[in-house]
Amino acid sequence: MSSSAPNHALEFPGGYTRSVGPVIGRFLTELRDGRLVGVRTASGRVVVPPTEYDPEDGSAVTGEFVEVGPDCTVESWSWVPRPRRSHPLQRPFAWALIRPDGADTALLHALDLGVFEEGAKPPRELRTGMRVRPKWRSERSGGIGDIECFRPDIAMINDSRRTEYHLPPGRALERFLEGIAEGRFLGHRCGVCGKVYVPLKGLCPVDGVPTTEEVEVRDTGTVTTFAVNNIPDPRAPEVPFVSAYILLDGSDLAMLALVAGVPADQVRMGMRVRAEWRPREEWGATMANIKWFAPLDEPDVPFAAIKDHL
Ligand SMILES: [Zn+2]
Repeated sequence: MSSSAPNHALEFPGGYTRSVGPVIGRFLTELRDGRLVGVRTASGRVVVPPTEYDPEDGSAVTGEFVEVGPDCTVESWSWVPRPRRSHPLQRPFAWALIRPDGADTALLHALDLGVFEEGAKPPRELRTGMRVRPKWRSERSGGIGDIECFRPDIAMINDSRRTEYHLPPGRALERFLEGIAEGRFLGHRCGVCGKVYVPLKGLCPVDGVPTTEEVEVRDTGTVTTFAVNNIPDPRAPEVPFVSAYILLDGSDLAMLALVAGVPADQVRMGMRVRAEWRPREEWGATMANIKWFAPLDEPDVPFAAIKDHL
């Protein structure tokens, strides 16, 4: 008989259900609600995940729950360059012992450092003492998997210098911004290929000919590609924010803009959007008239219809 063939089976018809008890139950309930809690022991330490008895001396815990984190410190780590299918992340990551601020113990979880190349070495920023935070799932059920992983704090870059300069927009861009000042998107149609370019550029990049036929397109469009940004930007409402190429209806060239009014993880290729204009009294000849593009309650556009505009 093969040594790998099982010769016994343990089965619980209907599944194995047990009570988690008041201490673990409280921990799981708080996880579901997006919080980390520990329990205080008789000696005053805070144990995370909470246990019913102090792991040091076996005495019953006090029952006082303490919210800890979300800022945490990596106490120890082990790099996984080639994850297995059963691992929580399908790209290189670290198993880490992570101690939430306010806790005296650490919990084991996956640490995502944004490394995508299989077999990659641990990144330089991975070190004991690095500061991390949990990435919560949007749908939570009361399990440790409600935390998808931990991620490093963003190392902020702050450049206090300021440079002001004047860029003459050129006649085509000037005309485009005149349209924006009136709440209109203006483009040019190429007399050779018939394509419409928004913003208007005054020439066709395909045919290299000047364009003069002005057309107005709608302020609705379709997301062709997009990026989720985790570095704060003064133009964006919050982090993470989404920048996207949007193919305005009637245009043949996608333009870059912010997408908001929808969680970043729900933005998708083919999503229908409309420009969210600021109040008219705030308008000038500037793209700042448009706050961002927000989702429209319309079915997504199939990939085949946008693939030539990527
Ligand atoms: Zn052309």
